[in-house]
Amino acid sequence: MKVIAEALQILTHALEKAASIPYARRQAEEILCDVLSCDRLSLYINSRHPLKSEEWANCQAYLARRLKGEPLAYIKGTIEFYNCLIHVNPSVLIPRQETEILVDKIVHILSKEDLRGKTLWDVCCGSGCIGIALKKRFPLLQVVLADQSKEALELASYNANENKEDVVCLQGDLLTPFQGQKTHFFVCNPPYISEQEFEQLDPDVREFEPKLALLGGVSGIEFYERLAKELPVYLHPHSKVWFEIGYNQGEAVQALFKSPPWKNQHLENDWAGHNRFFFLENE
Ligand code: GLN
Repeated sequence: MKVIAEALQILTHALEKAASIPYARRQAEEILCDVLSCDRLSLYINSRHPLKSEEWANCQAYLARRLKGEPLAYIKGTIEFYNCLIHVNPSVLIPRQETEILVDKIVHILSKEDLRGKTLWDVCCGSGCIGIALKKRFPLLQVVLADQSKEALELASYNANENKEDVVCLQGDLLTPFQGQKTHFFVCNPPYISEQEFEQLDPDVREFEPKLALLGGVSGIEFYERLAKELPVYLHPHSKVWFEIGYNQGEAVQALFKSPPWKNQHLENDWAGHNRFFFLENE
């Protein structure tokens, strides 16, 4: 029979040996926390507690999937994102930390706005993480989630229900589900990987996450190209627009939105100091 400390050591060692798996100990902790339904601190407080045989079997099954490269979030089925628990499956991108930075910046901006009667659209919503997190923080905001993938939208809707947030979910290509409507706030983390970058992606990403949620056309910037042209008619005057972009796309995206009706365009950085977000308004 194994105690928690031993299990942690065995899992860490196995993950360390797989060269492509970083933060082995942290990942081993997460496996154990999930299998034992406890937090990380409890692993250390209870380090001498024995594992039941089925718990250890679960850990090993988990480990086997992880060693094949499957991302931890898909194995667990959930990930924490800005005060929300978000369910994920291979039909949606796993929400990233950069995207939490985006949400945090938007929270900062929206906390200074009067949100009564205002709408926010989260387009290319995937799991729905951005829109759901913003709805949770600002209950007055009317939030609409949209995605072209039916499976993604089903999961986004499930996530909204699980988080007890009342949002509208629409399926369709980019802005087509919004024909004839206008919004005050628009957020989009579209697929933005180029075909060339796709080939160089970490295999855990390339082989497990949905290509549809990653690839932004041959160049990577096709969604921004379309939005620069198509979005203006969907915006009320003086709306605010927020994009996540690839770390090397700042200049290219700025160039797309440089003329009226666009104004107050600026890039914002992630914690690594990369241009990672593009914020703008319309006239
Ligand atoms: N909006 C979702 C996220 O930020 C999905 C993004 C996508 O599929 N490109 O995680």
